Amino acid sequence: MLKVNHINVAYGNLQVVWDVSLSISEGEVVAILGPNGAGKTTTLKSIIGLLPPKSGSVEFKGEDITGRPIHEMTTLGVAFVPEERNLFTAMTVHENLLMGAYTIRDKQKIRRNLEYVYSLFPRLEERRPQYAGTMSGGERQMLAIARGLMANPRLVLLDEPSMGLSPENVIVVFETIEKLRSENVTVIIVEQNVDTTLRFSDRAYVMEQGRIAMHDTSENLLKDDHVCKMYLGV
Ligand code: ATP
Repeated sequence: MLKVNHINVAYGNLQVVWDVSLSISEGEVVAILGPNGAGKTTTLKSIIGLLPPKSGSVEFKGEDITGRPIHEMTTLGVAFVPEERNLFTAMTVHENLLMGAYTIRDKQKIRRNLEYVYSLFPRLEERRPQYAGTMSGGERQMLAIARGLMANPRLVLLDEPSMGLSPENVIVVFETIEKLRSENVTVIIVEQNVDTTLRFSDRAYVMEQGRIAMHDTSENLLKDDHVCKMYLGV
């Protein structure tokens, strides 16, 4: 579904991603792991078109989408949920969800998408009139992911969704990812929470100093000596 071919990405003259290639099939949950500053977020930004690569290419369903603007990515079925969540805190849950459907003109389709998102996340339906700014961290992250789903994506890129959350809310986020999996939505997740992420994902790429250092099934990586020592503290 997604192929990233040898991308090199830089901020001005400072190159931070070197020759990164990824290959993700439909319905997979794939993690990108690694220490701070390894280039994980930059890789996501490059895939989604916020920071086009200096060289290399990105293909989605066989089509070259390298450097396409983000609104075109939304229309193609790719959603990006950034680490900052970017919710409209003075708007209600319902209004935030509607903002996620801004590329859709058909009102019936918007209504259907709302019903779908509320059926996936009954907690959000209960909190429909609540201001996003007054929700818990886990609920805000759930809302950010749900808003991304309002445009009917087939591929969702999640940047550190468990960042800053309490252990209970981290569980809410990973349960949310399980729901996406059950809907056959493909997920790429960048995370610091290596242990939990490997338990919820199918495969993972480990980035170190801007390069892919390892990639394997999550099951194998959980047993790998380097991963255990560097990221799991065992
Ligand atoms: P973290 O887990 O800390 O977010 P990361 O693996 O996602 O790390 P990136 O955010 O992709 O890493 O950063 C990779 C490198 O690029 C870092 O050295 C960072 O300082 C640098 N960098 C990130 N954003 C910018 C920017 N806007 N301008 C210049 N350099 C940047």
